[in-house]
Formats: sequence, structure tokens, C-alpha cells
Amino acid sequence: MIARWRWPLLACVFAAAVAACDDDDPADDPDAAPHVGRAGLFGPAVQSLTFEVDYAPGAAPEVRYGGLLAGDRSPWEIFETNVVALYDGQPPALNIPRTLDEMQALPADAFPGDDFTVDDILDLAARFRDRPSQPMDRSVYMIWLDGYYADDSGRRDTVLGVSLGDTGVIAMFKPVIDSVGSTARVEQTTLVHEFGHAAGLVNNGLMQVDDHHDAEHGAHCSNEDCVMYWTIESTAGVRDFVGTLLGGDDPRVLFGAECLADAHAASE
Ligand SMILES: [Zn+2]
Ligand SMILES: [Zn+2]
Repeated sequence: MIARWRWPLLACVFAAAVAACDDDDPADDPDAAPHVGRAGLFGPAVQSLTFEVDYAPGAAPEVRYGGLLAGDRSPWEIFETNVVALYDGQPPALNIPRTLDEMQALPADAFPGDDFTVDDILDLAARFRDRPSQPMDRSVYMIWLDGYYADDSGRRDTVLGVSLGDTGVIAMFKPVIDSVGSTARVEQTTLVHEFGHAAGLVNNGLMQVDDHHDAEHGAHCSNEDCVMYWTIESTAGVRDFVGTLLGGDDPRVLFGAECLADAHAASE
């Protein structure tokens, strides 16, 4: 069911073939419309796109910049800027939280351990996701965990985040994000990368206008200045990438022209 690629220092696991919402999902309401995956996400029928954010105790998303860069700006502007860019400046109605009031704290007893497998993450999503993705009103579920990704080889303590196939579920691993420094920017960069996977970038559901698929490294981009470049997967790589973001006041578009072109081409 699950195909995964592994690389040394892998910091984001991209589970390509996790089945879209399990039929045996215990939280499924038989009368509810089925979850829709990424197909058509950039198409004209989509009227809204909601990012639902839940977090474990001690793992809240950053809603302020730290240190000297603090101020009134929200780091979530980085995410919004990049979502808007994928839609070529004409997104559907976006619901992107910016404050913890707009996100949901989950109860501590939902998290008996520190390691989370794909199945653990999907179980949490089945339990706490409030908003299934619908054809016209799409949603992505993002959960911040106070722990680590785990697979058959055990704990993966350099994995920053994962995007689980076509489920629209993204998990963020707070201790790993915290370990890099520049936490708000690293977190937002990781989120942009994972949403890129969820949206089907780089030959993972979206057609390529020009070939930029670094096939050796999974669904990653051959443009090393693009947030979908594979080394963003490493804690060292994301640190270098984020270093180039410091100093400017305005959030930058982190996707390269090739990835943007693929999303724009899917708008028809
Ligand atoms: Zn990736
Ligand atoms: Zn790219």
C-alpha cells in the first residue's frame, strides 16, 4: 500500500501511494460525501481551500517570528504567499489560520508515544480532522506533533514533515523543526514543501509543462533554487535554503518557475 523512498538525511518523507482516505476509516460517516484527493485542485470548480491545523500539547505552530525579526508580521504570510503563487495570484477563497485561536489544541491523551508511523498519523487524522476535502471546497489537514516520524527502520529524527499520498494529510515534527533554528521560517518552508507534495507537484499528479523531475530523488524538482528541490528534505538543506530568506521584509515565493508553471497549467 505504501511506497516510500529513503535517502540519507531524509527530512521529509513522501509517501506517494498511501490510499486516499481508507474505506474502513472508523470515523467515516456513511452518508458523508467521499473525500476527494488532489485531482482538480487548481481547476476552476474549486471555490475554497481550507487548511485545518491541529497541534499536540507542546508542539504549537509558530505564529510569531523570533528574536530581532519579531514584529507584527506573521510567518504564515510565507505559506499564504506561496499558495497564492501556485494559483497565479487568483486563488479560491483561502482559509489559512494565523493565530493559535484559529488552530485546535488536541488533548494530551491522544498521543501516547513519541513516534508516529503513517498509520498512527492517519488514525489521528481520522479522529480529529473536522473537514473532509470536497469537490468545490477543498481542505488539507495539518497536524503538529511533539515527536518523530517512524517507519520500519524506526525513529527518523531528521524528518521535518510528511505528506501522506493523496490523503491531504500533512504531519509536522516539532522537535526536528526546533532543532534547526530560525524555527518560524524553517517551519513555513517545510509546510510549503509538504503542501507542494500534497498538491501533486513534480510529476506526482500534476503534469509537467517542462521536464524538471529529479526522478532519482522521488517527486522533487531539478531546480536547486526551488523549495521542491530534494535537499530541502535535510535539516542542513533547509537551513541553507532558509538562510537565503533572511533579511527581506516580504515573504518570498519559494517555488521555482517550473513548479509554478505546472500548477498554473492545471488551472484549466
Ligand atoms: Zn519532499
Ligand atoms: Zn520546482
